[in-house]
Amino acid sequence: MKILDGKLLAKSLNDELSKKILSYNNEYGRKPHLLVILVGDNPASQVYVKNKEKKAAEVGIKSTIIRLSKDVSENNLLKVIDEANANISVDSILVQLPLPNHINSNKVIDRISIEKDVDGFNSKNIGLLALGRPKVIPCTPLGCYKMLESILDLEGKKVIILGRSNIVGKPLSFLLTNKNATVTLAHSKSKNLKDLCLSSDIIIAAIGKPNFVKKEWVKENAVIIDVGINVIEDKNGLRKIVGDVDYEDVIKKVSFISPVPGGVGPMTIHCLLSNTFLLTKN
Ligand code: NDP
Repeated sequence: MKILDGKLLAKSLNDELSKKILSYNNEYGRKPHLLVILVGDNPASQVYVKNKEKKAAEVGIKSTIIRLSKDVSENNLLKVIDEANANISVDSILVQLPLPNHINSNKVIDRISIEKDVDGFNSKNIGLLALGRPKVIPCTPLGCYKMLESILDLEGKKVIILGRSNIVGKPLSFLLTNKNATVTLAHSKSKNLKDLCLSSDIIIAAIGKPNFVKKEWVKENAVIIDVGINVIEDKNGLRKIVGDVDYEDVIKKVSFISPVPGGVGPMTIHCLLSNTFLLTKN
């Protein structure tokens, strides 16, 4: 069994990226510029945004955070996006999700120009990915793909993705299909999940259920990518983060597994940075 170390892979990819950004900066006299819009004071979102800001600075990307009150009207948020779309000093725009309930997230995401949509969640970007003509690929799916690509050839591999959300499972199913894998996209209404998993070479779990996948579900030498982030209390009442796969249970059976934390998370951030640079060059 080998650990698919997302932290290490992200570090090496970030090192490569920062060299490219440095030479871009030398040539054009400017840094790529990521604009993050944060609405409200959700503590998890604050932590994510801070982390993105820090990682961006490490590779030479300038980031600006616009903080808006949780009561901001949808119209005012859309105006901020319009201004950022029109601002030529901004290369990429990210609206941190989730948004407060009174705001229509789909409308907001679709307002971001596809030339600046760094998360790739805009319906045009998702549509282009589904058609096999991607421009910007959502960061978590792209991170999962880069991890897989670092260890195997996806062509003809049977992959099951657990979870069909618009930000992880669905775009990932398009991406891996484009890369010639045979993909099953499963969800809470799927039947015989265990059998579907047992017949798969690769299991990607993105459902948000702690330790859901057990060794009885996993075929010998399977590869596992664990996207889940779940906070649980251990036997001693201490909070810890675990994935959707029971790591200790499956570990002897698999050929590769990505840990949580230190797997998909750092790769997602790497892809945010590489997408920013891609949009900057475009
Ligand atoms: P969502 O809650 O949006 O979607 C969950 C998906 O899982 C749904 O499609 C749901 O099915 C499916 N599901 C739920 N329960 C089951 C079940 N028992 N069997 C099969 N399918 C099930 O989650 P996200 O996609 O946003 O996130 C998933 C996990 O990944 C979370 O833990 C999240 O924190 C983590 N995450 C990690 C990231 C990272 O960078 N590492 C980035 C993004 C997310 P249905 O559609 O039928 O309801």
